[in-house]
Amino acid sequence: MQIKIAENAGFCYGVMRAIKMADDAIGRFHKICSLGPIIHNPQVVEDYEKKGLVVIDNLDKADAPVLIRSHGVPPEIYDKIKRKKIEYIDATCPFVKEAQDYVKEMHNDGYTVVIFGDKNHPEVKAHLGYADYNAHIVNTPKEAELIKSEKIGVISQTTQSVERFAEVVAELSKNAKQMKIYNTICDATEKRQKSAKQLAKESDIMIVIGGKNSANTRKLYEICKNYSKKAYHIETEKEIEINWFEGVEKVGITAGASTPSYVIERVYRFIKKIDEKTIS
Ligand code: SF4
Repeated sequence: MQIKIAENAGFCYGVMRAIKMADDAIGRFHKICSLGPIIHNPQVVEDYEKKGLVVIDNLDKADAPVLIRSHGVPPEIYDKIKRKKIEYIDATCPFVKEAQDYVKEMHNDGYTVVIFGDKNHPEVKAHLGYADYNAHIVNTPKEAELIKSEKIGVISQTTQSVERFAEVVAELSKNAKQMKIYNTICDATEKRQKSAKQLAKESDIMIVIGGKNSANTRKLYEICKNYSKKAYHIETEKEIEINWFEGVEKVGITAGASTPSYVIERVYRFIKKIDEKTIS
């Protein structure tokens, strides 16, 4: 079998930066609290818990400096942190921060703010706060059809697909006189999606690695399902079944933005062993 890893796979810049900031902070304080899991990857979260990073769901539970993860938080969380005089490490990805600034700017300038994304995703929930919780969240062009306003300002969750964003913008433009569009989909996502699509086209099977709760990994899986004969979404090599590879010649591997390279390597080695028939 030919086994290929997508050109762009695994940790993105923002996640790598957050992990580095967490490492530095653990080194300095020995214990830190993360407001929500540091990234959408259960294996990494578990590893970090052992090192001294405790996941909390509420600031009232913080008994050590708080790490703000790459998805960012709404403004009132910063206010609370400051009020409580808690030390904090801000690992909000700079691209997410940029999108938050656009939301704030458009809201202050009187635009009806539209956030394209998943309403349950922490990044989107945080964005909403920068419009004083007065924005529309849409996930499909159909939902966008319902928004009517003279002035519409739109941004996207950083991990959404560019094609979908364009469709949503096209719908919104039918009902607005004036529009402000910020394409806040980050490069890392675009690149990862493009190389997954390319590899899926030339593979008999695609293995997509990443947290089951990771939106960008799920999106990669959707893309791979569309362009490859078979696709599977796994978190670790333990989920792989040998019979998936019967009659397969070309295997493609890709991974979400919160998948460490050691997890990708383990999957690669496991499939190699299947090919060499050293496991059965
Ligand atoms: S996917 Fe992009 S925006 Fe999101 S954390 Fe990574 S680099 Fe930042």
